[in-house]
Amino acid sequence: MLKVKNVNVFYGNIQAIRDVSLEVNEGEIVTLIGANGAGKSTLLKTVSGLLKPKQGQIVYEGKTINGKAAQTIVKQGISHVPEGRRIFANMSVEENLELGAFLRKDKAGIREDMEKVYELFPRLLERLKQQAGTLSGGEQQMLAMGRALMARPRLLLLDEPSMGLAPLLVKTIFRIIEEINKTGTTILLVEQNANLALSIAHRAYVVETGRIVLSGSAEELTASEQVKMAYLGGH
Ligand code: ATP
Repeated sequence: MLKVKNVNVFYGNIQAIRDVSLEVNEGEIVTLIGANGAGKSTLLKTVSGLLKPKQGQIVYEGKTINGKAAQTIVKQGISHVPEGRRIFANMSVEENLELGAFLRKDKAGIREDMEKVYELFPRLLERLKQQAGTLSGGEQQMLAMGRALMARPRLLLLDEPSMGLAPLLVKTIFRIIEEINKTGTTILLVEQNANLALSIAHRAYVVETGRIVLSGSAEELTASEQVKMAYLGGH
């Protein structure tokens, strides 16, 4: 479904991504694990068109997408939930969700997806008129995910959904990520919490200083000594 081929990304003269290749197959949850600053967010931004690779190619459903505008990439079926959520704080929950569908014209489909978002996140339905900036951190994460789903993506890019959330809420968010995946959305997940990410992923890539240093099934990586030592607390 998604193929990243030999991609290099720079911020000015600084190279953040070095010759990265990876694949996401339809139906999978694939996770990128790695330390702070390894380049995980940069990779997601490159896939969603917020950053342009200097070299390499990104192919989505058989079409090259690198170099295309972010909006075009959303239309092709990729939604990105950025780190830190970036909801519109002064707008209501409902308005934020509506904005997620702004590139669509199919009113009935939009209505249908709104209902699905309410089913996944009943909390949002209870708070439709509330100003988004006054939601709790967990509720804002739900809203950011709900808004991304309103574009009806086939591939969802999630950047650090657990960040700053209490453990119980993190569990809820991860259960919902699995649910979204089971209903047919492919997921590329960036997560600092490697234990958690590997517990729901099918496959994973380990990113260190802009390179992929290891990849495999979630089971393989969970069992890997290298991953255990560096990312799973050494036991
Ligand atoms: P984190 O989990 O801390 O967000 P990450 O793996 O997602 O880490 P990135 O945010 O992709 O890492 O950052 C990769 C490297 O690129 C880091 O060295 C970072 O300082 C650098 N970087 C990120 N954004 C910019 C920017 N706008 N300008 C210059 N350098 C940047």
